[in-house]
Amino acid sequence: MIVKVSSAIQIGGHLYQICFDHDLQDRNDWGEVNHHTQLITINESRLASQRTEALVHELLHVISRIFYHSNDDVTEQLIGSMSEGLTQVFVELGVELDWSDIKEKE
Ligand SMILES: [Zn+2]
Repeated sequence: MIVKVSSAIQIGGHLYQICFDHDLQDRNDWGEVNHHTQLITINESRLASQRTEALVHELLHVISRIFYHSNDDVTEQLIGSMSEGLTQVFVELGVELDWSDIKEKE
């Protein structure tokens, strides 16, 4: 099943933009979220499963911030474990992400 990644996603009352950022490649990061600008950036050069994991990972950061209202006990390890688990489920369900609507960060 192909799922198209939209360039913006509503989470709670907030609209987050999704784009690629070439600078992530230099820092060897897969993805990043900026809650102030409400921007999720993904490293386009990563493999498909890694891009999927990066998007799920950053979305979990946004979800935990908006719906859980605490960063103190939502650790990077917890987010990483959940995003890897969800990515495995998506891969086994045959979910493939279509990134054709996603543009490079301006
Ligand atoms: Zn993280």
